[in-house]
Amino acid sequence: MLDTTMKNQLKAYLEKLTKPVELIATLDDSAKSAEIKELLAEIAELSEKVTFREDNTLPERKPSFLITNPGSHSGPRFAGSPLGHEFTSLVLALLQTGGHPSKETQALLDQIRQLDDDLHFETYYSLSCHNCPDVVQALNLMAILNPRISHTAIDGGVFQNEIQDRNVMGVPAVFLNGKEFGQGRMSLAEIVSKVDVNADKRTADELNKRDAYEVLIVGSGPAGAAAAIYSARKGIRTALLGERFGGQVLDTVDIENYISVPKTEGSKLAGAESARQRIRYRRYRQPERQQTDPCQRRRRPAHYSDRLWRRAEVAQHYHRDRRTLA
Ligand SMILES: Cc1cc2nc3c(=O)[nH]c(=O)nc-3n(C[C@H](O)[C@H](O)[C@H](O)COP(=O)(O)OP(=O)(O)OC[C@H]3O[C@@H](n4cnc5c(N)ncnc54)[C@H](O)[C@@H]3O)c2cc1C
Repeated sequence: MLDTTMKNQLKAYLEKLTKPVELIATLDDSAKSAEIKELLAEIAELSEKVTFREDNTLPERKPSFLITNPGSHSGPRFAGSPLGHEFTSLVLALLQTGGHPSKETQALLDQIRQLDDDLHFETYYSLSCHNCPDVVQALNLMAILNPRISHTAIDGGVFQNEIQDRNVMGVPAVFLNGKEFGQGRMSLAEIVSKVDVNADKRTADELNKRDAYEVLIVGSGPAGAAAAIYSARKGIRTALLGERFGGQVLDTVDIENYISVPKTEGSKLAGAESARQRIRYRRYRQPERQQTDPCQRRRRPAHYSDRLWRRAEVAQHYHRDRRTLA
């Protein structure tokens, strides 16, 4: 299954494991099951810390396999093939199950560990989907960190009957406890904020302690970002509300003919937008500029709007004079 280069690379990664990892496969006599068996056996050969066994009695999709630690039954599961764009997700799941730390913030990791609901996620992906690995990796990490969370990443090409039965129109498509949860690219923070019901209250309490905003912009895509820039540059205390900063541009790899940008990628453009806003805002904060520019409205001290750039995506509780829908 894996060529020599891939094996060498994976072997080097698996040297980072600090805890043993067990791969438990649930297989049938299909060709896909034989493929998965061969792949898992090859992976297990690359590290003494990885073992592989079959348990075909489990009430799980076939073929599928759980990535866990010996003696445990929790962790991420792949149903179908974890190759194509999902190979990175497989490698990360192996590493993180084996004790390699995630690069997410400690606060977010702690929030995931403290979730006290039983959350069973299923994600449908395709091997050619660019947006799927982020979602699969986020949910895999949640399943690794918290035993009350499970995640099965399902290859829609292998389980086409489920794609039809559940009317999946695009991938990634995520189901939580059997119900539709979301579709398209989602970050770990977005997923956690959606399932952590207490987080809304915590955020609302934090926001209620703040002074009132003068303008609330609903929607944090390019239009919302532009509205926020031109509001904040006039010294108006501005808040930007949205689930994710970047809007639709995050849903595509190729962005072409965006004004003055012949070709870029969605995630790069969203990153560039947020960086540009910070730069522009700092420019307009300079006191000498404020005094000489007659257009500058300085109703409130400059630091009021500064919070916007530290937290572009905020919750619902605002007092406001104006609203903009973008
Ligand atoms: C696959 C794809 C490829 C594309 N390729 C190109 C391209 O090559 N070149 C190009 O110029 N354009 C391209 N576009 C179009 C471009 O992404 C959009 O024109 C642009 O994102 C529109 O910006 P917007 O801010 O108006 O809306 P959006 O980007 O849609 O942002 C609106 C935001 O508002 C949020 N929102 C909506 N309702 C609420 C609510 N009630 N509360 C809070 N938030 C809410 C949404 O979640 C979203 O984040 C592409 C779009 C897609 C999907």
